[in-house]
Amino acid sequence: MERTTFERLVRRVLSAIPQEFRAYLENVDVIVEDWPTTAQLKTHSLTDEDVLLGLYEGVPLTERHDYVRVLPDRITIFQGSIEMICESEEQMVEEIRITVVHEVAHHFGIDDARLHELGVA
Ligand SMILES: [Zn+2]
Repeated sequence: MERTTFERLVRRVLSAIPQEFRAYLENVDVIVEDWPTTAQLKTHSLTDEDVLLGLYEGVPLTERHDYVRVLPDRITIFQGSIEMICESEEQMVEEIRITVVHEVAHHFGIDDARLHELGVA
């Protein structure tokens, strides 16, 4: 899939997020990369064998008390990982949706255990 097509799908998911939540995403960069770096995998105790679809890097809103922000939070969606686990474009659209929602939820302070319960893991 072309990178521009992939990015358009990501933007479509983001624009479907209700406005009251989207306001909190203004300071979050959402970017697309092919694969996670070894350093990014390490922060999640993962190795090159693991498949990481998306990554949230930053300080969740719920943990910001005396937090002075220097850099915006960042959400990275890994196109190569998503393409690897999907067999059709339809499946990719769904996987992008789940991944984007999952990482955005981390920004709101929702952890993996809870996301698993909610079926967004
Ligand atoms: Zn997660």
